[in-house]
Amino acid sequence: MMDKIPSFERLVESFSRLPGIGKKTAQRLAYYVLRSKNNFTEEFREAIKQVKELINECPTCYTYTENEGDCYYCVDVDRRNDMFCVVEDPADIQQLESSGAFKGRYHVLHGAINPLDGVGPDDLRIKQLISRIKSQATDGEEPIKEVILALDANLEGDTTALYLAKALSEFDIQVSRIAHGVPIGGHIDYVDHRTLGKALENRIVL
Ligand SMILES: [Zn+2]
Repeated sequence: MMDKIPSFERLVESFSRLPGIGKKTAQRLAYYVLRSKNNFTEEFREAIKQVKELINECPTCYTYTENEGDCYYCVDVDRRNDMFCVVEDPADIQQLESSGAFKGRYHVLHGAINPLDGVGPDDLRIKQLISRIKSQATDGEEPIKEVILALDANLEGDTTALYLAKALSEFDIQVSRIAHGVPIGGHIDYVDHRTLGKALENRIVL
């Protein structure tokens, strides 16, 4: 074990703040960086910088995009306009896309209601979802027929689903939630594509 080296300790500390990285793994990663060639560390540093500089939230669905305006999914003319799928995180969209089972529009909440962590409805993109539905109903676009909630199968997902079902009850739209196959407590980004396709197909009307 080497002496305490402040710069090395700082790197370990940074790595250990990443989700799922414990102290031991953080140390292994820091040693890897320390021993690696300069071109690796340059590329790594540049990749982190670019992720922060180039990626914006889509002004319509709030997923991440490098586009200046709407994202890839929002500008795609081959998708249905009358169906929304509400997800917690941008990564969930990639999962749903791999399942190939959904061809409508997305809306990203950026989290789920979690009173214990102080996350309420106003901290999520819920108001934006409602104004999106409203404006689509009034500005001559095709009105929305169905909102599918593809939320995690845990307490936060349940709370958010209940809240949204109530908030959307003022509109003449069907609100459903994917259910079967998503294990209790399961994050949808861990579910395999075929199961996720089935879960969408067998969604439950709220
Ligand atoms: Zn978008």
